Amino acid sequence: MLENVVKDKYDRPILSLRITISNRCNENCLYCHHDGMVSSKDEMTPDELYKICKIAKRIGVRKIRLSGGDPLVRKDIVEIVEKIASLDFQDISLTTNGVLLGKYAEDLKKAGLDRVNVSLDTLNPETYKKVTSMDYLKEARAGILKAVEVGLYPVKINMVIMKDINQNEIKDMFEFCKEHGIILQLIELIESENCDDDKFSANYHYPLEDLENKLADIADDVRERKFMQGRKKYYLNDGEIEIVRPVDNSKFCANCSRLRITPDGKIKPCLLRNDNLVELISHIRKNESEEKLEEIFLNGINNREPFNTD
Ligand code: SAM
Repeated sequence: MLENVVKDKYDRPILSLRITISNRCNENCLYCHHDGMVSSKDEMTPDELYKICKIAKRIGVRKIRLSGGDPLVRKDIVEIVEKIASLDFQDISLTTNGVLLGKYAEDLKKAGLDRVNVSLDTLNPETYKKVTSMDYLKEARAGILKAVEVGLYPVKINMVIMKDINQNEIKDMFEFCKEHGIILQLIELIESENCDDDKFSANYHYPLEDLENKLADIADDVRERKFMQGRKKYYLNDGEIEIVRPVDNSKFCANCSRLRITPDGKIKPCLLRNDNLVELISHIRKNESEEKLEEIFLNGINNREPFNTD
């Protein structure tokens, strides 16, 4: 039973909030959709992020995820997590490329972070350089292992699958994950309007449907995540693989329970749209009441539209 939860017009409960706390990043992934633009001096402060989360908590949000850019490029990341954790959410997680995770994992755990998703598309140094334009594979691997060691559990690896880049590396990654008790999430590449190469999606998009069908045949068990866009989890050989296919819009939207905040402090009701954003941070900066801020949140929720309502 879901109590004290706000639902949108389509009866979808709003259970999680993903906040992009910076769009600065220490990598330059060739597929990155660069979530909005904001200069570092205008980034939301730890107190402002706390206020946003406080309103989210009031309307029944259970889970907070911090993302970027890379959230760990913020020097105040531990303070941010500590402030949000004081609101006692069911789950606080963070998505990072892992490069700075070795440095921060322990302090983040102490500050109240529950778990991390680390984006790692390959274990091969050459492929890593091709995808990220950087040479940080060693640091990212070490960061992942540190997260496992300090119990940011469960650690998940996000692997975006790209045709002719890493489609043949899934098995190696799955073995690495199994060895360290990590869940592997395979992500289907989505169209990236900010990507430098116009043809990137067309050239490198690799549909995960066939793989998903194959997994369904060989898995020991399959479960569907009810409130996470209907994603399927496959259990096999003592490991776990989750498939993320935002391209399958109708199903993705039908089961979406997530609201987002852009780095410039706007409520983003839908992942795949930018035409229904709702301004939030200027109201917080004007010190408006919690009632008013809650109303703004509800306006954002009211703007949520499934991609395809058929
Ligand atoms: N820098 C952090 C990281 O590397 O995890 C957080 C931001 S990154 C934008 C968040 C996630 O979005 C990563 O797992 C990344 O792989 C995924 N992502 C970015 N662009 C994508 C695209 N065009 N298609 C699919 N996934 C994408």
